[in-house]
Amino acid sequence: MDDFLELMKRAKEIVHREQSNSEVEVFVKLDEKDNYEVFFDWVNCMGQLIISKPDFAPYRWVRMEILDLTTERQLYLWQDSEGDSVEKNICRIEKGFSIAEKANIKCKCDERLKSEHLSLDEAEEVETILSECVKKKLFRKTHPLRIIGYFRMEIDETVYRRRKWYKCRKCGCIWEYQMPDEKGGAWIRKFTDGKYPKWTIEIYRRWR
Ligand SMILES: [Zn+2]
Repeated sequence: MDDFLELMKRAKEIVHREQSNSEVEVFVKLDEKDNYEVFFDWVNCMGQLIISKPDFAPYRWVRMEILDLTTERQLYLWQDSEGDSVEKNICRIEKGFSIAEKANIKCKCDERLKSEHLSLDEAEEVETILSECVKKKLFRKTHPLRIIGYFRMEIDETVYRRRKWYKCRKCGCIWEYQMPDEKGGAWIRKFTDGKYPKWTIEIYRRWR
């Protein structure tokens, strides 16, 4: 199979895969042997993928563009040139989809949860929410060392082991969670601007 046909075939497979994803609406504008043009409509952005053999264009066979719907800013542009392999093109198409996916992650950090002490039931609920967010790749686990260079020695080991830190990939908010022990003592703290406060003895006492 020549490179162009292989590229066409593999790009269509990716588009079909995306079509089964409920987060995006796909409109096929052109589907001919040497001419394929598709539009994508996500909640926060839109995209276009063209695979063709134009006589005169700034790309050889492939053009993919993603625009932010609110700002109309270009989030992604790929235009191939002479000598780019099928593999490279496929990689760049996949990259476009992953950029769109990232732009469409929704978080509820604003409306959900605030800094508070938690009952055992509430702690259980919070743990479920946090682990769901990690599963959806909305949150990633983090560590205060990464954020402010805050060291383990500054609080005692037993307290430290009960804590978990998360960062929201979408809004940058940091969540610090303390699991309950036999006396309860669970809480969640939220740092909206992603800035972890300097650890003071007052904060330590209050949140212990
Ligand atoms: Zn968030």
